[in-house]
Amino acid sequence: MSDEAKDDVVKVIRTPVQLDYNYSAGRSASRFLRSIKEGKLIGQRCPVDGRVYFPSRGSCPQHGVPIEGEPVELVDRGTLVTFSIVRIPAESVPLEIPFVTIQVLLDGADTILMHLLGNCDLEKVHMGMRLKARWKPKEEWEESVANIIYFEPLDEPDADYDSYKEHI
Ligand SMILES: [Zn+2]
Repeated sequence: MSDEAKDDVVKVIRTPVQLDYNYSAGRSASRFLRSIKEGKLIGQRCPVDGRVYFPSRGSCPQHGVPIEGEPVELVDRGTLVTFSIVRIPAESVPLEIPFVTIQVLLDGADTILMHLLGNCDLEKVHMGMRLKARWKPKEEWEESVANIIYFEPLDEPDADYDSYKEHI
């Protein structure tokens, strides 16, 4: 390759990609979405070992059985399991950068929820923090987890490590 040809090598191309999805929520996710529009957080219990999945997808991925029992209503409080500090803006995130994405284990749930942390200095974010949900005004509620703007610190002692370590 000549020196001139090397200078002509394309090093970067930009290829914006967008995918739009339409999918049927199904019975279980529909129940979850209708409930969160009413401000309720609904999980479901595995009939084999009793673990509470939130949100439930209608079957237990561990045991391969349908989850059809009574819904389990959870509180809007939980424990911060892991987090990331994000310094790149994201269209879907209504917070200024840097913002914090979190995995939160709601009290009574056995699976984690991915969400955002707000109203907290970056230096103070840590695993085991106790959190509560900050909801949008009720008149803005839709069938969406975004009804919760973010989770924020709760004035409680940190959760015991053993209570959330299996979710890390
Ligand atoms: Zn199960």
